[in-house]
Amino acid sequence: MSQSVRRVAVVTGAARGIGAAIARKLAADGLAVAVVDLDEKAGAETVDAIVSAGGSAIAIGADVADKDQVRAAVERTVAELGAPTVLVNNAGVLRDNLLFKMSEDDWDTVMAVHLRGAFLFSKAVQEHMVAAKFGRIVSLSSTSALGNRGQANYAAAKAGLQGFTKTLAIELGKFGITANAVAPGFIVTDMTRATAARVGVDFDDFEKAAVSQIPVARAGRPEDVANTVSFLVGEGAGFVSGQVVYVAGGPRD
Ligand code: NAP
Repeated sequence: MSQSVRRVAVVTGAARGIGAAIARKLAADGLAVAVVDLDEKAGAETVDAIVSAGGSAIAIGADVADKDQVRAAVERTVAELGAPTVLVNNAGVLRDNLLFKMSEDDWDTVMAVHLRGAFLFSKAVQEHMVAAKFGRIVSLSSTSALGNRGQANYAAAKAGLQGFTKTLAIELGKFGITANAVAPGFIVTDMTRATAARVGVDFDDFEKAAVSQIPVARAGRPEDVANTVSFLVGEGAGFVSGQVVYVAGGPRD
């Protein structure tokens, strides 16, 4: 991305998986990145990779569902990197189970991380975006938003993020802020490995079964998602807002 000012991005859940790939890509694009994850030490690997490639990043420990920790994370970002004008709501957890076995805790945890987390971070960061008259908010949805067995909580949260995104697009557009959702399909990360383990299927078989349903005939990689986020947060994407971009190797409704 060519840009006159070095923009500052906050990427949540960026210690590993898709979040780490997004943080690395945005840093390679020239943004300074706050790598937010539950454990500050866990973010060190992502930060080291960015810094050794010549980029700028800091690790910040924060639970996205905790209002005070979110506020403190944004304050640290402002103090150490500058005011953030890019936010990627990526932190996520799974608590899969069939409805009749799903506990209230499974439900509440998934809502807290995905929905409350995106709400708290977007609210905390938007004032900096409004002040800058520029902002890019990207939230990680999922093909599971369309419904997925064993994921009533996760599907509801990921569908909720799509409504949240469209509403932010409507409310914040006049301040130069766009909001979009990226909805990945099957991406190889610890999360998909954990799902295979939970259902008792060898990961290679799990991946083969998933790939057999994907038109481009391969599994997704974190970089596939990172490249899409890179476009959406770029200066050139200012007329793309309130969209859900499926990154799933084929069409979804
Ligand atoms: P992942 O490998 O499990 O990474 C998720 C990261 O989020 C972890 O570093 C995790 O930290 C962090 N996190 C969890 N709860 C948090 C909290 N309360 N506060 C701060 N950070 C927290 O998952 P992923 O596969 O990269 O997924 C990233 C996003 O993409 C998620 O929103 C996920 O739902 C979405 N997605 C993934 C896929 C896929 O196929 N992988 C498909 C569609 C959508 P800990 O390690 O400390 O738990």
